Amino acid sequence: MSQLTVAKFGGTSVADAHAMERCAAILEQNPDTRLAVLSASSGVTNILVALASGEHQPDARATLLQQLTEIQQGILNSLEKPETLTRHIEDILVYIKELADSAAISPTHALHDEIVAQGELMSTRLFVELLRRRGTPAVWFDVRKVMRTDDKFSRATPDLARLQAEVEKELQPLFANELVVTQGFIGSAQDGRTTTLGRGGSDFSAALLGEALGAKAIQIWTDVPGIYTTDPRLVSEARPISEITFSEASEMATFGAKVLHPATLQPAVRQQIPVFVGSSKDPAAGGTWIRNHTNSQPLFRALALRRNQVLLTLTNQSMFQVHGFLAEVFGILAKHKISVDLITTSVISVSLTLDSGAESLTDEVRAELDKHCHLQVEENLTLVALIGNRMSEVNGVGTQVFKALSEINIRMICYGASAHNLCFLVPEDDANQVLNDLHTELLPS
Ligand code: ASP
Ligand code: MG
Repeated sequence: MSQLTVAKFGGTSVADAHAMERCAAILEQNPDTRLAVLSASSGVTNILVALASGEHQPDARATLLQQLTEIQQGILNSLEKPETLTRHIEDILVYIKELADSAAISPTHALHDEIVAQGELMSTRLFVELLRRRGTPAVWFDVRKVMRTDDKFSRATPDLARLQAEVEKELQPLFANELVVTQGFIGSAQDGRTTTLGRGGSDFSAALLGEALGAKAIQIWTDVPGIYTTDPRLVSEARPISEITFSEASEMATFGAKVLHPATLQPAVRQQIPVFVGSSKDPAAGGTWIRNHTNSQPLFRALALRRNQVLLTLTNQSMFQVHGFLAEVFGILAKHKISVDLITTSVISVSLTLDSGAESLTDEVRAELDKHCHLQVEENLTLVALIGNRMSEVNGVGTQVFKALSEINIRMICYGASAHNLCFLVPEDDANQVLNDLHTELLPS
């Protein structure tokens, strides 16, 4: 393992020149940080997605381009409009306009990614200039040289062996003299066309680069001082967690905590690289360390919430003492690439929730399931996940949890498969109350 740290700065952290100055200060204070991975400035990716989706009205396109231009010009103005860079950014804006005009005629997946990737390409250019003005030598690096992916545009999968080899060849030698600034979120297919890794994918990029470099730490700088016990917008008593294990943090990301992209931790876990989450607005406030082992292993650590859940209940009267029913049902779901989240069974029925929500339940899928069983679909449900340690081994967990929920109609419970979570479904309208009650009862400060 090297001494190198990778730092990722999210969209709000690089929203404008003022925010970028804070990121620069963070990097300058930690000489071990040799690689900075950036998102596009806040709001930029949303604008680019709108342009890429083939907005037909020229006026609407012009408005979007104007908003985009203002964000970039704002940063350029703070940098006193350096000539070469200003020209370069203006060229990119013209290029985006041309691509958006093409997308309005015929939007394609490849065009989409080429447009959307420009946000990260611009933010990194601007940030290198800002660092240089501060006297910090920095070099811009096009991550597409090393982040080679398949050609599933918008959700491309990186080729890890190739990444490893290219990082050693292209990226590693640059660290000797300068800080390297590169893009999160984007990559390139084998034929060189630009791809993207999915919304919020910069965290994942940083973790993959950290893995390929054998980094000693991966820092994720965002706008909150770490991972909270639960969403502080919903529960005022929520507080930051100073350390959490990989297993617990993965459960949190999977079950809806918005702080990290769910795939982020996989590379870190593979190489046991600690991940730090902190706020670039207030680095002194500390943050959350995610690592293999933590000093404390509390029974209850956090609560996460995922809305818009669909519950399917499949009933077959003749399922009683008959084998093969579950295999048939899951066979149909697998054929349609529908992944199942929670599941409980009874003698004649099985209830499950779908990862991908109601859209995946097409008429075709319904018709196939109908042949085997009676199908009941319930919506407007929220999944609440309680995350902690040894939860399936300790007496009285159920009593503590359900005491706090005595007034609520719990639609489904999953407990026991993982030592790190207890999940249940509640009516959407009760979700905030449930979260507050559980937090008061199980996570008192
Ligand atoms: N800029 C991209 C997005 O907004 C990637 C990221 O921020 O992680 O989705
Ligand atoms: Mg982001």
